[in-house]
Amino acid sequence: MTGKLFVLSGPSGVGKGTLRERALKDIPGLVYSISCTTRKPREGETDGVEYRFISREKFREGISQGLFLEYAHVHEDFYGTLKQDVLNELESGHDVLLEIDVQGALQVKEKMPGAVLVFVAPPSIEVLERRLRGRKTESEDALKVRLNNALNELSLKDRYDYVVVNDDLDSACEELRKIIS
Ligand code: ADP
Ligand code: 5GP
Repeated sequence: MTGKLFVLSGPSGVGKGTLRERALKDIPGLVYSISCTTRKPREGETDGVEYRFISREKFREGISQGLFLEYAHVHEDFYGTLKQDVLNELESGHDVLLEIDVQGALQVKEKMPGAVLVFVAPPSIEVLERRLRGRKTESEDALKVRLNNALNELSLKDRYDYVVVNDDLDSACEELRKIIS
């Protein structure tokens, strides 16, 4: 029996990482596919845990060898999902969760139409900005890039199978759990 692929996306700071952690803790048999990125690790991040941190050259090699199920230039770096990782997990019967940007999610849907796309939306742009600032991981410039990108991302939410508004965290977690289960 093969597993099912779930794709979580939405603007930076909306709470995708928080929802993903809860889903992985609460839902048995759900595994996370660790992405590759050319971005530098943030304080506390470890190679192979949050991401596989690789050089731009290695990333380009991966693209030309067709290793990525999807990849995108997000904010100012490249991010991608390794195809074989996902296929191996699905073939061994695990449900797989990807947490990727909107461009990547739409590529996945084209290649694997059975994938379930879940868009995480903020209750408002003001709340999104507050969360992003509260996380204190971005410089003022990076924050502006992310908020600007958020408007484009929000305009694509109708192409998703489900939209979960992350207002109250417990309610959003429960909604996601129901979708996956
Ligand atoms: P993303 O992975 O989408 O960039 P994060 O999961 O890092 O977002 O969340 C951004 C910030 O918002 C974090 O500080 C997180 O603790 C907080 N957060 C997430 N969900 C909620 C929520 N429902 N209510 C209030 N704060 C939240
Ligand atoms: P961050 O740098 O904050 O960890 O992530 C920035 C953005 O990149 C987030 O929107 C995240 O979902 C997205 N992202 C992470 N991994 C991937 C991936 O493998 N592919 C794509 N397309 N986007 C990704």
